[in-house]
Amino acid sequence: MLSAQTTDVNVNRVTPALFQKYRRPEDYLAVPVEDLENDIRPTGFFRQKTRSLRGTMKMLVEEFDGKVPRTLEELTRLPGVARKTANVVASELGHTQGIVVDTHVRRLSQRLGLTRREDPVKIERDLMKIVPRERWGVFPHLLIWHGRRVCLARRPRCEECVLLDLCPSSRV
Ligand code: SF4
Repeated sequence: MLSAQTTDVNVNRVTPALFQKYRRPEDYLAVPVEDLENDIRPTGFFRQKTRSLRGTMKMLVEEFDGKVPRTLEELTRLPGVARKTANVVASELGHTQGIVVDTHVRRLSQRLGLTRREDPVKIERDLMKIVPRERWGVFPHLLIWHGRRVCLARRPRCEECVLLDLCPSSRV
């Protein structure tokens, strides 16, 4: 939720103090709205994000006994949680049910010829057909790190890429 429309750096600026101050879902509801807004302000869109956070925490308390649910169906009911976030959370909790498609996964899947789609849900569907089920959790991490370090968005470093011989988009 905090990472929408901002950088990891900005998110990491607020989370140490945030997680120290707010330990349980109830804690996010116990403070004035303005306090939470100020606590996440550096991440941008802080009013909308505060609404999502409070809405999610309220639902966790009222419908899920204060615990984060495990299924994609339940997770995507939480305010501000779409399929990508639901997939990340489910996967990190050891209940992988799909493949996370973020900007790196999308770009690399397309460059590697694993999909021709643009829509993340359709890309995910293509990937789920070809990636073995037991690798669904780790697969996006591999693409994300490769996308950050080698297959950069503007200038892919094809000359130092381990996938050079396999990749239909190689520029070498
Ligand atoms: S060969 Fe180039 S385009 Fe293909 S995955 Fe490697 S860096 Fe990306």
